[in-house]
Amino acid sequence: MPIDATLPYDDQNIFAKILRGEIPSQRVYEDDWAIAFHDIAPQAPVHLLVIPRGPYVSWDDFSERAPAGEIAGFVRAVGRVARDHGLVAAGYRLLANVGGDAGQEVAHLHVHLFGGQPLGPMLA
Ligand code: IMP
Repeated sequence: MPIDATLPYDDQNIFAKILRGEIPSQRVYEDDWAIAFHDIAPQAPVHLLVIPRGPYVSWDDFSERAPAGEIAGFVRAVGRVARDHGLVAAGYRLLANVGGDAGQEVAHLHVHLFGGQPLGPMLA
């Protein structure tokens, strides 16, 4: 069931629990601004999720409310994760679903990072 991206942040969402270490994840990166971990249902040879540490429902919420330093830190983290996985030369895809029509399922901003093969027109 897609979320309503206009609702306030709820810290009981599954990615908030992953951030707090309450449920396990295969973490591949962390810094002051973001963590990245493997998607539980990968749609490409590399399918990672990069999430900010801060409490943001979606890209809409993040781009509106986050301080500039937090936005910069998160954007850099996404780039680093892709670079660390050796994806830049072959290419990769970033995707952030926002709300119902996009099918966003988890109410904590997450950027999908896909790579490892030619990706075709759409994923996630
Ligand atoms: P959305 O449709 O953009 O909200 O993507 C949510 C993503 O989270 C999907 O690709 C799911 O496979 C992934 N996901 C859901 N629960 C977990 C989990 O516990 N660990 C890792 N990925 C998850």
